[in-house]
Amino acid sequence: MSWLPPYPGDGHAWMDGECMLYCRMAGRVLAVGFVKTPAGEGRMYACGECLHELACLAMKEIQAQDWADLAAR
Ligand SMILES: [Zn+2]
Repeated sequence: MSWLPPYPGDGHAWMDGECMLYCRMAGRVLAVGFVKTPAGEGRMYACGECLHELACLAMKEIQAQDWADLAAR
């Protein structure tokens, strides 16, 4: 199974805005979910490059959990 992170032109609802992840740059962003803070809940937006970085971090976490599960058997 291959898994590609979102990227502009992939059919998702990209829009102009500011990336709220690592780069904080203005450009094409995608709504990626909500964040809860003590002040309330707000929608999060991220650019393709930061989503790729986030996807890589998530894959590392998934792989680490897989190894932990295998070691526990
Ligand atoms: Zn970004």
